[in-house]
Amino acid sequence: MQESGSNREVASPVSGTPLSGRPRLAVESELAASEARFRVAYDEAAVGMIMLDLDGRILEVNRAICEISGYAGVDLVGQPMTVLLAKDHELDVARILSQMADGSTRSYRVERRLVRRDGASIWVRNSATLLSYGGKPAQLFILVEDITEGKKAIETLQYQAAHEEVTGLYNRRHFEELLARAVEPGSGSGGRAALLYLDLDGFKLVNDTMGHAAGDGLLREVGAALAGCMGSQDVLARLGGDEFAVVRPGGGPEDGAALATKMLKAFQQAFQVANHELRIGGSIGVVTSPADGTTAGELLQSADAAMYSAKRQGRNRYATFTTDLRDQATERLAMEIQIRNALAAGEFHAEYQPIQEAKEKRLIRFEAVCRWHNALLGEVSPMQFIPVAEETGIMIELGQFMLRQACTAAAAWARKGTPAGVAVNVSAVEFARPDYVDTVWRAVEESRVNPSLLELELTEGVLGGDIEVCIEKITRLRDLGIRVTLDDFGTGHSSLSYLRRIPVAALKIDRTFVADLQNGPSAVSLVRSIIGIATSFGLRVLADGVETDAQLRVLRFLGCHEVQGFLFGRPEPFEAATQRLRDEQVHLKSSRVADWGAARRSAGALQRQLA
Ligand code: C2E
Ligand code: CA
Repeated sequence: MQESGSNREVASPVSGTPLSGRPRLAVESELAASEARFRVAYDEAAVGMIMLDLDGRILEVNRAICEISGYAGVDLVGQPMTVLLAKDHELDVARILSQMADGSTRSYRVERRLVRRDGASIWVRNSATLLSYGGKPAQLFILVEDITEGKKAIETLQYQAAHEEVTGLYNRRHFEELLARAVEPGSGSGGRAALLYLDLDGFKLVNDTMGHAAGDGLLREVGAALAGCMGSQDVLARLGGDEFAVVRPGGGPEDGAALATKMLKAFQQAFQVANHELRIGGSIGVVTSPADGTTAGELLQSADAAMYSAKRQGRNRYATFTTDLRDQATERLAMEIQIRNALAAGEFHAEYQPIQEAKEKRLIRFEAVCRWHNALLGEVSPMQFIPVAEETGIMIELGQFMLRQACTAAAAWARKGTPAGVAVNVSAVEFARPDYVDTVWRAVEESRVNPSLLELELTEGVLGGDIEVCIEKITRLRDLGIRVTLDDFGTGHSSLSYLRRIPVAALKIDRTFVADLQNGPSAVSLVRSIIGIATSFGLRVLADGVETDAQLRVLRFLGCHEVQGFLFGRPEPFEAATQRLRDEQVHLKSSRVADWGAARRSAGALQRQLA
């Protein structure tokens, strides 16, 4: 509001012409003419005009006011001015009126919300001037301009500056401002806040396979689902790409953990996008101020590192910030460069771990796993380098390398007269490529391996994105004679009923369940039900990570078909696997002779009994 001390002494109530020294009649007719001119101008003015008495009662209005407010003049005259104003302005108006009446304020300019007769509210700019007669404050003359359009334009600009288009959530810039405010020591919560940083798992797959419109649709759905998890003080934003963040002012570690759990729960349901059911997970980093950082920048960095830690731990979970996480983030960057160099320098190779039939102990195939030996780093675990390779896109090349190695190995074993299958791990980023099936087929043709010897291990995470597209690819692979297995079964969030729709040939029970078998009946009944349902769908079941005879006995008892684990052999180089196959063949031949001997003996015993 602008107020000034200027006062208008009214000579003529309408024209302001000095009245002294003129013949009375001439003056009167001039006055009448002037009055009439004023009337017309007053009535026809494009701006609204109101005359008020000093109690705030309306004395007169012009036509523009009626147009702006939707009221007829007769409805307004005699009413208090507040009849036209939004409720929250009433006190303010009373204050200004009393200041004008006592002469301490003589004019003002202010923007207010005016409530039309139909209840709609519009923005107006009021400029009021105090009119005095004979030196005494008498009336208020108010100009009313409709500024709704301008206001709307400003509001739209302000909205656009703070929000992002796809989800309508706050954008990164605005979120950072709010976060900075929340963690200021002088903030209402004394600088305490919890920050959650969420990155979707496998969002890129949706974009790559279904296009950006579907990707945007999924982001909108996710945004809405996350918004449903928020408390009244929480601020949710989409920071860009597939990253979302939440700040809870005053929140501590427990609040952060509880909110993260709630958000992860929202991902257990499929999202409906363009007639498709999409499943996607999220990895969340949870940090708090002041423990993990005291500025918005520090906190976002810590939360980013914690989020990557959640991804490394298997995705679709949350992780908090630990002090060495920041160092790990730096290490990751270094590893990215090292992996690229290693691929060019031929530092990767495949090793083969035996897989046996559970009952007859027959070696049936090998799982190919990637090995990296670096002169400086030594042996680097795939658990370390595969996630980095996946995030940086090098996985495509590394995956093709492993596929070619495995196909070549299986072709060589078949040529040597000791045929064995080979299973290859497939990353989500590889499987998502539209030309994935063609790539596999090229490797089969180039190595001249019988496709029935090749098996592809897909994790549940690989099946994220559009399930129909996944089903189509798996069906094409099956039609080419290539088996597909669902790896690490039980660690993701797909249900058993989901299996009915996916044409996989086998399930691989994750080694964590196998390790649990000795810990009590609940793990046993879990594995029993997995095997039961899988078998009823006609799937074979393979148990991974078998380390003890006791585990093997339970698995056999439960009807598990195939087993893999250190009990039978660790991953070994091609030559050692080849030797193992040779030994197996020798063993098989002698056991066939032994079986034959046993059969003859039992047949003899039967004959003796019958005689
Ligand atoms: P995975 O697919 O579950 O592979 C089996 C892993 O379990 C191997 O670890 C193997 O050494 C380990 N393992 C086998 N038997 C036992 C056992 O009895 N006890 C225990 N404790 N572990 C056992 P590895 O080679 O370290 O591979 C780890 C993961 O890295 C693999 O898990 C797979 O997800 C990934 N990986 C390895 N090679 C490749 C590859 O070529 N491509 C892709 N996409 N991923 C790979
Ligand atoms: Ca595997």
